[in-house]
Amino acid sequence: MAAATREVEEGMPELPEVEVIRRDLDREIGGKKVKSVEVHGARSVRRHRQRKEFVAALEGRKVGSVSRRGKYLLCRLDGGQVLVVHLGMSGRLVRTKSAKEPLERHTHVVITFTQGGQLRFVDPRTFGEMFVTELDGLEDRVEELAHLGLDPLETAMSWDAFGRLVASRRMKLKNALMDQTFLAGIGNIYSDEILFAAGLRWDRMSDSLTQEEVRRLYRSLSEILQDAVKHRGSTLADEAYVDLFGNPGGYQEHHQVYAREGEACRRCRRPIVRRKVSGRSTYFCETCQI
Ligand code: ZN
Repeated sequence: MAAATREVEEGMPELPEVEVIRRDLDREIGGKKVKSVEVHGARSVRRHRQRKEFVAALEGRKVGSVSRRGKYLLCRLDGGQVLVVHLGMSGRLVRTKSAKEPLERHTHVVITFTQGGQLRFVDPRTFGEMFVTELDGLEDRVEELAHLGLDPLETAMSWDAFGRLVASRRMKLKNALMDQTFLAGIGNIYSDEILFAAGLRWDRMSDSLTQEEVRRLYRSLSEILQDAVKHRGSTLADEAYVDLFGNPGGYQEHHQVYAREGEACRRCRRPIVRRKVSGRSTYFCETCQI
């Protein structure tokens, strides 16, 4: 069970992909009123005792802005509640202009708006979920949010404050970046890309960095994630991530190390190395990262 939970936390999509979805969702459903809700898969609304409780909480409500806490999407509703969406390993939100479009397999929730169009939740592996709760005191009621670390796309902090936090983790850098109680939303892809950009090896201890290295890591963290959002996230061969409209992201074309084993490092031309560490692959350049 612990392994499964960790997999969910570190899986795709990572923070940039969820941020792309948030921005589109805010534009697409903000201001729209929910006409009806259908739940086909009860597991997707498992925090509610019954499906009809979820349906009743949503029907007739107007959606406000869409924000984010880590990889949790928060769609504000009038009346002080919030629709929380977590995509898990394989969840996808699909925006359709018409209710007539055929339902994809594994469509568990369908939300129809009075202005027309739907938002559908598709999730083959059912690790993802949707629920409605009070916005007030959200973090007290949703345990996963209470323990979430800094949001690297939103939290403004000085690099030396960041450096103190990194050092206090006393773990290998890759593990520190992926530790959800430290930084929210970074998984296997972006930790490798951030460490390459910073010129640091995945297994450097987080309390061994010089000030210059801390600065590079801090800069790389925000640059890589912002760049990934700009290119609308990474879509890998499994196409687990596509946007609201079914379009893949483009950042995979800019990956420097991830899934590039044996290919030439774009900086020094030596082959990228892959190491399997605690069940996951880590990609890096032995020359450019020290
Ligand atoms: Zn290199």
